[in-house]
Amino acid sequence: MSATSARPNPLDLDLAGCESLVTALGFKAFHGRNLFKWMHKHGVVDFDAMTDLPKRLRLALRDTVEIRLPRILETHPSADGTVKWVLELDDGQRIETVFIPEGKRRTLCVSSQVGCALECAFCATARQGFNRNLSVAEIIGQVWQATRRLGVAPTNVVMMGMGEPLANFEPVVRAMDIMQDDLAYMLAKQRVTLSTSGIVPNIYRLREVSDVSLAVSLHAPNDALRDVLVPINRKYPLAELIPACKHYVAGDKRRKITWEYVMLDGINDSPTHAKQLIRLLEGVPSKVNLIPFNPFAGSDFGTSPPERVETFRARLVRSGLFAMTRKTRGDEIAAACGQLVGRVRDRTGRCGRVRIEFKERLEAR
Ligand code: SAH
Repeated sequence: MSATSARPNPLDLDLAGCESLVTALGFKAFHGRNLFKWMHKHGVVDFDAMTDLPKRLRLALRDTVEIRLPRILETHPSADGTVKWVLELDDGQRIETVFIPEGKRRTLCVSSQVGCALECAFCATARQGFNRNLSVAEIIGQVWQATRRLGVAPTNVVMMGMGEPLANFEPVVRAMDIMQDDLAYMLAKQRVTLSTSGIVPNIYRLREVSDVSLAVSLHAPNDALRDVLVPINRKYPLAELIPACKHYVAGDKRRKITWEYVMLDGINDSPTHAKQLIRLLEGVPSKVNLIPFNPFAGSDFGTSPPERVETFRARLVRSGLFAMTRKTRGDEIAAACGQLVGRVRDRTGRCGRVRIEFKERLEAR
């Protein structure tokens, strides 16, 4: 890596960080505010174009820091308006960002890590293995790039791209703060959603420092099945996950946990599973999102037939749960998380391992 690229990146800084940066260079804090605004609100990354910063400050910034963004490598537009970008980072790593328009809503699905360590049995990103955490600049850089490409900021951000956001805690929280800043992307807190597979201690930590919406990848209504589908469950079982989620939404009647439940043919979609799910979520302010499984090359699972999904949903609704089926978007561009990059590099051989282990465990039950 060259000496220049090792210079601090101001995109890693929140508003307070930008203010400290300019005061450390000997200038008034409000210039830091302007720097922050130029970068995020106006999308300007050339210090010379930041016309209300003193000339000497612009020179000092040029000498000491460097604004580096993830680079758009590929753009995959889909007929339904969904766009998937493959972005390249400084070290050549690749991540994905997906834009999903729906009516007035412009949702951006953002990645938090290169690859993922969590080995969920049905997930394409898991096949890549874990590579590294993203920096704040690389997370907010996805929002920056999308905003420039679209000519307008997203109305909603979901941390549902590649990676487990709660396993990259501080950078994800800081990037989500920047998304909400009035001098940056101005997203309301309920329009930023973090999706986790259930890292229980960090759900409690998140509650302390942020009030973004929380989505939890449940996918199974009992420990035996969840241990297999979402293996982090072996460490943080449902008896710990559910109270953590209740705690997250406690104290505000408007808040609900969004439960993600991928419908896998013959695996987790029976009437018994629906009944168990209803019991599990009793007393938890909940919204259930049933997600048709998005198949990818080498995946062993099938998508539940639409009638079965509807029967499952109807049961939940009859019990008083709010449940909806997520529309599948961007199918022809492999918009489900990890699929494009996965196609470029499927390098760990984990694919086969997860599959064999899954079969063994399922047969053993
Ligand atoms: N690691 C986080 C966020 C990334 S995944 C989490 O687990 O929540 C975002 C959502 O997509 C999760 O609910 C995940 O389980 C789901 N998902 C992953 N692969 C999928 C696939 N092939 N089809 C449908 N949903 C999938």
